[in-house]
Amino acid sequence: MIISTNLIFRGFAAFSLWPFIFVRPEYRNDKALIEHELVHYREQAWIMPVWVLFYLVSRKFRLAAEVRAYTREIELGGITREQAAHALLGYRLGINFNQALRALIPV
Ligand SMILES: [Zn+2]
Repeated sequence: MIISTNLIFRGFAAFSLWPFIFVRPEYRNDKALIEHELVHYREQAWIMPVWVLFYLVSRKFRLAAEVRAYTREIELGGITREQAAHALLGYRLGINFNQALRALIPV
């Protein structure tokens, strides 16, 4: 279920907490962004409690999850790799811009 709201962490357009996806109203029709959140949503659906715990506690897990989701968003043309790398800096991952860029390069 998608909920339009401005009650979203500062600097973010949307976030998923199964069974909901919260999106700022002005991003409600951003298809690539919704797909980004759906990547998280589908992962959370079957392993929700463990997923959230790992996401909050582990930088490595959080980075891997965001790289998967931003990769999907980049594929759909919703965002550039540089924009995604810049966005990754907001997730307390302990990495700099160049490390974020490198993490987003497909292997
Ligand atoms: Zn994300």
